[in-house]
Amino acid sequence: MKRLGWKLLLSHIVVVVVGSAVLGIVAHFHAPRAFQTHILRMQALIGTDSGLAADLQRTFSEAIGEILVVSGAAAAFAALIVSSFVAWRIVAPIRSLTAASKRIAAGDYGERVVAQWDDEIADLAASFNRMAETLQQTEARRVELIGDLAHELKTPLTTIRSMMEGLVDGVLPAEAETFLDIQRETRRLQRLTDELRELSRTESGTVPIRPQPCEPGALVEQVLGRLTVQFEDKEIRLRRDIPERLPLVSADPERMVQVLTNLVGNALQYTPSGGTVIVRLRRAGRTVVFNVEDTGIGLSREEASRVFERFYRVEKSRSRLHGGSGIGLTIAAHLVDAHGGRLTVESAGPGLGSTFSFALPIAD
Ligand code: ADP
Repeated sequence: MKRLGWKLLLSHIVVVVVGSAVLGIVAHFHAPRAFQTHILRMQALIGTDSGLAADLQRTFSEAIGEILVVSGAAAAFAALIVSSFVAWRIVAPIRSLTAASKRIAAGDYGERVVAQWDDEIADLAASFNRMAETLQQTEARRVELIGDLAHELKTPLTTIRSMMEGLVDGVLPAEAETFLDIQRETRRLQRLTDELRELSRTESGTVPIRPQPCEPGALVEQVLGRLTVQFEDKEIRLRRDIPERLPLVSADPERMVQVLTNLVGNALQYTPSGGTVIVRLRRAGRTVVFNVEDTGIGLSREEASRVFERFYRVEKSRSRLHGGSGIGLTIAAHLVDAHGGRLTVESAGPGLGSTFSFALPIAD
């Protein structure tokens, strides 16, 4: 039972000893007086006999003393058994928590403790289990992330290596085309590392967000202005649905332009020629809702639930062609989170377009 068990046992015994002592002292001082009163009443009934009275008093004191010793010993014995049980009840779950935390510290994240009773220790066990669950998920994500990263780096590196080997062996001609291919792959690596740095900064919450009152329409125009040519090139109609009078929103303009650029850029990327992309703004309560709607390739329910995951791409080969690594939406979702909003997506299904939305609070 180690120390806590002994301490509990000792504390119970101390309680019993103190209780018995108080009982003994009180009985010692109070019993003769109480008895005296009864003797006086008896004498009133049966007449005075000082010898009988003294005899009764002595026998009574002895009896009281004997009763106290026997009941004290019985109480101590009962207390010993009960307190051992109570101490065991308290110490056992703490011991299993200690054992479980040692196993978790050793890397066994599947460890859980079972709480038998509904008390504070059960609450402790429940929060311990929640902590273990979070650790297990974090560890799983870490392992998955390393795997994904290795995979992302492998493709461009393999391409560069085989091209270099081709050049060295003379199989590939040393002409501009070959070098441009190599340059494209190195750019892809560069973009990936830039995105990863940005992702780690947004995930760790170290990206400074400096909210200020911004005009929502102006944020949208800034993004659309930069992308107009690309929409024209791909023959996609770009429309805005922006009400005249909208309140100012509280946002970091630089970060919001980054989020909108990602959403509108994706709409452009995943909408075939002839399609339409609409950016809508509308007021909803104390917020302004931003919608980026397209008539593009759409998403199935399962895909829609995963687009915000790191490295998730519906069609890996297609997005890799334009250099997408599936991190853009993860970063965008974190940035919207940091503004107190939530980035969501809705799609009626594959081929039926998608709508990405988020709300920003109206500036005070
Ligand atoms: P990527 O750089 O690959 O575009 P994102 O994180 O921006 O990475 O997007 C993740 C994936 O979500 C994309 O690869 C694509 O499959 C899907 N996606 C994003 N935007 C759209 C959209 N507007 N329509 C259909 N699919 C989309």
